[in-house]
This record gives sequence, structure tokens and C-alpha cells, in this order.
Amino acid sequence: MKLSDLGEFGFIERLARYAGTDDPRVICGIGDDCAVIESGRPGKVLLVTTDLLQEGVHFEDATGPPRLLGRKALVTGLSDIAAMGGVPMFFSVSLSVPPDTSVSWVEEVYAGLGERAAASKTALIGGDTTASLKDRSLSVTVIGECPQDEVVYRRNARPGEAIFVTGNPGESAAGLRLLRARAAGGPGAPGASGEESEDFDHLTARHLDPEPRLFAGRRLAADRHASAMIDVSDGVAADLGHILEGSRVGAVLDARLLPVSASLQRACARLALDPVILGLSGGEDYELLFTAPASLDEKALSRSLELAVTRIGRISDGPARLEIRDARDRVISLAGGGFDHFRT
Ligand SMILES: [Mg+2]
Repeated sequence: MKLSDLGEFGFIERLARYAGTDDPRVICGIGDDCAVIESGRPGKVLLVTTDLLQEGVHFEDATGPPRLLGRKALVTGLSDIAAMGGVPMFFSVSLSVPPDTSVSWVEEVYAGLGERAAASKTALIGGDTTASLKDRSLSVTVIGECPQDEVVYRRNARPGEAIFVTGNPGESAAGLRLLRARAAGGPGAPGASGEESEDFDHLTARHLDPEPRLFAGRRLAADRHASAMIDVSDGVAADLGHILEGSRVGAVLDARLLPVSASLQRACARLALDPVILGLSGGEDYELLFTAPASLDEKALSRSLELAVTRIGRISDGPARLEIRDARDRVISLAGGGFDHFRT
């Protein structure tokens, strides 16, 4: 059997057999955005998350400079800390590059890491470097902290609750497609109209330099508003699927409610893509997707989180199935549903 037969999540399930599930210091092991472990400080727990960025899979020279790669490498971890409601504290970096890599490329990556570290008050505490034969990869582990009774897991969504998302999911995927189209001389090519190049700048920034929603995640946890939460790394449909599995509930998502920004709308028209499908299945937005009492008002939430929040559906009784309804109230099916690293 090959990994491509198992898929990413079947693969993780197999590896989970090796995890230390009967160690009482492990509060939550594999299966959430971060592991949650005892801190030794009363009332506080530590959050630990690792992300690996691989050349040819997550980044390529044609789609972005090394400084932004460094920024994004830390943001993927910061976003997981945000999705648990925590505050980041420390990070370590492992880098594997071929010997002919320029020193300035590596320095730019670390400069980018340093910018995001300074902005989030997260300190670099170590890591490892090794030579690779060909491709480059960058792995970042972030350690954060949270009051134990405020940690937001994926497993506590309840029927009747509403589903909310921050920002405009799909923008990152649109940005990536624009970068690739530009490399091939398509929309967004130099010399494009003012509006077209503004859309290009906005959407590609969402892909290359996403914002970790640390303030919003912490606020949702401290105010005890979010019952379950995840960051959107694989796409809204796939990531909501993880909440449904964790909580053993179903959901009905109303595709008409998905926020579609004007720039996403226009870029999708130029690229002949459906913004709703991109919003549901595009990944790497690093927005927060969470469940909360249906009585919560999205405008009040947006004000308190200092970030646009949109209600996109509701949690239903199990089984853990996601039903997506379109403008004509028909059920939409998403082939694949999101990003899976081992399915080809
Ligand atoms: Mg995550």
C-alpha cells in the first residue's frame, strides 16, 4: 500500500497509533490544531504545533520572494495557536537546503521569520539545519500558552449553534492562481488596468503574506464565545469537516452566505472560476472558522474581534456530514472537498 492510497488523513490516523495517549501530562495529542500539554504553571497549558513548508508543494521561486516565505512559515504556526485561543511565546526553525543555496536567500527567510516574530512577540529559541540533495524545506514549531479552561478545541460544537468565519476565504487560492497565471502571461500581467492590478496586489498578498488571527482567536476564547474552532488551512469545507468529525455533529452550510469580496469576484471572473467553490475548497487562508451560540450577532462579533465575521451556516444533529446548499437550495457537492497532501 502507498501513502496515496491512504490519503493525508488516513496516514495521520496510522501515525497516531504511536502517540503518547496514556501519558497524563498530554491533555490533547494528535487531532487538533495544536497539542495541549501540561505547563507546570497552575491553570495554564502549553500549546505546540509544527508545520513543514516544502519547495514545489508549498512554495516555488516563481510565486514569491524568500522574505515572504519566512513570514508565512511562522504564520502557519501562529494561526494554529490562534485557532486554540492561545498566545504564542517561542518558536524553533529547521531548514533543509542544497549546499549551492545563496546565503542571502537564507538570510531573507530568517528576516521574514523575524518580522512576524517581532510583531507577535514570539522568540526564536533554536532549530536545526541540514543539507538536502535538491529541494528546500522549512519546518517551524511554535509553542504558545493558554488558560486551561479557555482552550478552544474542535470537539465541542453543538447542534443549533451557528458557524462563523473571519475574512474572505478563497482569496488566498485566487491569489495563487493569479500568480501562476501571471507567470504564464495571463490576468494580472504587468501593464494590467488599475483595478486589475489592485486586485492582483490584494489577492496575492493574501496568499503570500497572510495575517495570523491571533487577537481574534484569543478574544473568542477569553470571551468564551467559540465552542469549537479551527484555522482555514485546507479550505472551509474540509476544515469544517474536521470540526464535525471532532464534535460528532453535522452541519448545513449556506453557500449564499459565504463572503465574496469585490476583488475575489472580479479575479474569479477573469480566471473563469466560481468564487463560491474557491471559498469552500481553496486553502491557506489562515482565517478562523468557529461555532458559537446562534444568538451571537455577526456585527457585534466583528466589532469585538476588529475583523469581519460572517455567519455561514449552522450545526445540526449528527452524523458528521456537511451539507452545502446553493442559491436555489440545491445541495452542492465538492469533489475532493479540500486539500489532501497525499492524494494525487
Ligand atoms: Mg490548523
